[in-house]
Amino acid sequence: MSGRSAHRPDSADFSQEMESGQLSRVEALACLDCEHACHVMLYCDTKAQLFGRIPIRHIILMQMRFDGLLGFPGGFVNPLTETLEEGLSRELLEELGVALPISIEEHVASCHAPSSSPSSAPLITHFYGKKMEEEQIKELETAAVSTAIDHGQEVLGMVRVPVYSMKGGGGFPSFLSHSFIGRARSQLVDSLLHFNLITPDQLQEALTHSMKIHTHSSKDLQAALTLTEKKGKC
Ligand code: AMP
Ligand code: MN
Repeated sequence: MSGRSAHRPDSADFSQEMESGQLSRVEALACLDCEHACHVMLYCDTKAQLFGRIPIRHIILMQMRFDGLLGFPGGFVNPLTETLEEGLSRELLEELGVALPISIEEHVASCHAPSSSPSSAPLITHFYGKKMEEEQIKELETAAVSTAIDHGQEVLGMVRVPVYSMKGGGGFPSFLSHSFIGRARSQLVDSLLHFNLITPDQLQEALTHSMKIHTHSSKDLQAALTLTEKKGKC
């Protein structure tokens, strides 16, 4: 059965949700032929300053994945044998070395993910946000390289998101111009607004700068390719 019939928001909300692929947690769980994956943004506030003058403001954890893309910790869960939150904790144990408890209140959104191939089952991704203490985040970063079984395998390393912007586009604009898995970039941007970690004006400015960086990167790649072709002919 499609989960879509279980819940009907009013028509304006509904068309918006349809467009974004968003669905309620109940609707999502009603889809029995769907695969489910859960990911989480772990974050904290910090008083630390970069170079002793640029406020870092927040530590937000993402990861460099095995496929070279940036994403959030988490993975596939099986709602027939575990709750979404238990499954996410299990994935966090593998990727971060700690079975961090995740509560239902930390659920932010569930969405249909774009299908990777026509033959694969539809995928629903569930996203969570968990605020922590700075010391806990630092302990997680240590555990992720020392005890997590996925370190060096599915996870190449945890990374902090620079949410500050520097002159010339360093920081958040540059970070946003990297490549992300699935909906991870929109999940990051939506969550920063949702948890008031950035203002809409700051975000808009960073995204505008990021698009310029992206154009520059594409020219850079073209130059590298041209150079490689020339070398190949020598
Ligand atoms: P993982 O085991 O973390 O790779 O995640 C399980 C599935 O979810 C894979 O098919 C990924 O391609 C997909 N996935 C991972 N992160 C995201 C994301 N942020 N948004 C949408 N899909 C994702
Ligand atoms: Mn994963």
